[in-house]
Order: sequence, then structure tokens, then C-alpha cells
Amino acid sequence: MEFALSAEQRQIRDMVSKFVDEEVVPVASEIDHDDEFPADLVDEMAELGLMGMPFPEEYGGAGLDYHSYAIGLEEISRGSGGLGTVVAAHTSLAGNMLYEFGDEDQKQEYLTPLAEGSDVGAFALSEAGAGSDVPAMETTATKEGDEYVLEGNKLWISNGSVADTVTVFAKTDPEAGNKGISSFVVRPKEDDGFIVEGTEEKLGDKGCPTAELRFDDLRIPEDRLLGEGGEGFVQALKTLNGGRITIAARGVGIARAALDEARDYANEREQFDQPIGEFQSIKHKLADMDTKIQAAKLLMHKAADKKIRGEDYIKASAQAKLYASEVSREVANEGIQIHGGYGYTKDFPAERFYRDAKLNEIYEGTSEVLRNTIGDQVLEE
Ligand SMILES: Cc1cc2nc3c(=O)[nH]c(=O)nc-3n(C[C@H](O)[C@H](O)[C@H](O)COP(=O)(O)OP(=O)(O)OC[C@H]3O[C@@H](n4cnc5c(N)ncnc54)[C@H](O)[C@@H]3O)c2cc1C
Repeated sequence: MEFALSAEQRQIRDMVSKFVDEEVVPVASEIDHDDEFPADLVDEMAELGLMGMPFPEEYGGAGLDYHSYAIGLEEISRGSGGLGTVVAAHTSLAGNMLYEFGDEDQKQEYLTPLAEGSDVGAFALSEAGAGSDVPAMETTATKEGDEYVLEGNKLWISNGSVADTVTVFAKTDPEAGNKGISSFVVRPKEDDGFIVEGTEEKLGDKGCPTAELRFDDLRIPEDRLLGEGGEGFVQALKTLNGGRITIAARGVGIARAALDEARDYANEREQFDQPIGEFQSIKHKLADMDTKIQAAKLLMHKAADKKIRGEDYIKASAQAKLYASEVSREVANEGIQIHGGYGYTKDFPAERFYRDAKLNEIYEGTSEVLRNTIGDQVLEE
């Protein structure tokens, strides 16, 4: 068992960390305040190969292993939780759908610009009445000649209003339950009938636009179908399994930012003529925060390791995402507490970390749904 990062993994971490410290941290409050998609940062990340980290170089990616990708995502999220979602939705969800289920032509045409970062990707699964309950979706894709006609609405789609490529799930056989769902490549800037209804005003995760989409007589050629018809539900679950490792990474990154900030504050802030970090209650909070982060990182890397080895990693990725998400929220909460009154204001980023962390417990499988997944597996073992 090897717990140390390889030389290449350390190099990736240091490169992304430097970029985040120099380019992301200084503008993170501005992103949070303005809530605008940080296109310039995305361009810079594309230059560094950070928009296609896990994909092979032949498709424009950086060819990194999943540990390195998770480390990169962790670092980006340490700078900005919203930017973490931008990259995770683009890469783990949209990009991975194309990489895993696209044919060679689809990979060349749609994955390569995503991995190079000239295109932005989104993954449109959820609907108003179909979040955890995916098969309840109502969007349909009807075959007419050599086209599919998409009709319906999608909700909460990260990057949805800025994306060049969206992987969309729709029912091709509404009577067949989860076996009647298929997935498609949609190109919002080329396909008529793709309508952005608006974006959500959210608690956190600012900078990543969360869009409501409508498909109105949206006609796409039949070669935009990903894989075989009826495989969409299984494709979505497989994609989310991988995605959860990077949402764990987002949780770890935000938690680390919250701990760093709280530690600095505990060393500087004096009350009763001593730094507050000298009070045992504060020191113990810092100890618990760090311990939980270390444990979350181990679960994240364990899931990545299983994925790399080609082992079943459904339980491992659910556990990593569940635990890292709860740790992220708990650590950010303690970060505010350590800051006292200042933590409750916008003078310090502690409150931003808390707002950004909370989302982790909701998307890509709520904590309740992940406990169902893990519990089902435990019962079978
Ligand atoms: C900021 C943001 C970004 C998002 N990005 C995307 C995206 O890019 N693409 C996309 O497709 N979706 C995205 N989503 C949607 C997200 O995945 C869903 O919100 C999530 O799956 C939960 O679905 P829901 O909101 O409908 O909640 P519901 O499913 O209605 O759940 C409500 C509550 O009931 C609980 N619950 C539901 N079912 C069960 C069950 N079987 N057992 C126990 N408890 C249960 C839930 O845990 C939750 O506490 C995003 C959401 C947000 C908020």
C-alpha cells in the first residue's frame, strides 16, 4: 500500500496550487460577489491543460491519472468552489459521457474541444420533478426520419447557460421506465430550439451558472445519440460514480481553504492577552478539522485507486463523496465559529466556504441517497 504521491502527481499538485494561489484566490471574493462565469480563468485553465485533465492526449486531454485529476480539482476548489463545479461538470460529467460512451467520431468532434478547453460542457439530467428520482424525467426524444426531436425542460444544469456541448438525457421509450432513457449530444449554439430560461440565484457556488433549460422542437441528427438507445440511465449512474470522486475533491478543497483561513486567524487574533489558538477549545477544533480532512482525502484516493484498477468503486465513490461533503460543511462551520463575529461577515471568506460547501451534500446524489447506495451494498456483503 502506497500513501505517498508520485513525483508526477506532486508536480501536478504544485502547478495547479501555484495557479490557484496566483490567479484564483485573489479574485475568489469577486467571483462570489458578481456571480459571473469566469471565462478568463477558464481560458487560462485550458492553456494549462486543466479543462481535460483525465482524458488521453489523442483527444486533447492532459492524460492524467484519476488521483492527479482529483488533486487538481481539489486545488481549484480550494480557490473557488464555483470554479470547482465549472470544471467538475465540464470534465467528470459532460466530458466523461463522451469519453466513455461516444464513438470515435463523436470523441473527435465533441470531446476534443472540451478537453482542450475551447468548448465548455454541461450534463443535463435533472428536471423539476426528477432529481433523485431520475426515471421520473419527462423530457422526450422522438425519432422522426433521421432526426431526434427533443421536447422538455431541465433544471439546475451547471454551466447550462454557457455550454457549447450538453449531454442531454431524454426518454426515447416513455413506457420502458429507466430502460427507456437515452442520452444525446446537444450543441446549444448550433441547434435551434435550445432555450435558456434563466439561471438560479443560489446560496453559494457562485460563478458557475446553474441554468434552467427548455427544448422546444429541438431537432438533432440521429448520430448525436450516445451509445445505444435505452442505455441512458446506466450511463448516467456510471458517470455519476466517477463524478462523485471529484465532488469529494471539491469538498476536501473547500475544507482545506476553511482550515487554512481559520488557522491563520487563530494565530493572529488575540483575546485575554493571548492568541485564541492557545485556547484548548480552539486548538481542538483545528485538530478535528484537520483530522477529518485527512480522512476524507484518504477515502477520495481510495475511490480513485479502485477506479484506476478497474474494480467496482460504486461504494467507495459514494462513501468518499458522502464523507467529504459532510466534512466540508462541518469544517467550514467550525471555521466561522473560530472567526467569531467576523466569521459571520463578508470581511472574511469563512462564510463563503460554508455556503460553497453546503452544495456538496445535494448534487450528484444527495447524502440521503448515497446512504441508500452504501447501505444496500453493506447489506449484500
Ligand atoms: C447548484 C446545483 C447544481 C446542479 N448541477 C446539476 C447538473 O449539472 N446536472 C444535473 O443534471 N443536475 C444538477 N443538479 C441537480 C441535483 O443533482 C439535484 O438537485 C439532486 O439530485 C437532488 O434532487 P432534487 O433537488 O430534486 O431533490 P429531491 O430528489 O426532491 O430530494 C429532496 C429530499 O428528499 C430526499 N430524498 C429523495 N429521495 C430519497 C430517497 N430515495 N431516500 C431518502 N431520501 C430521499 C433527498 O435526499 C432530499 O433531502 C444541481 C443542483 C444544484 C442545487
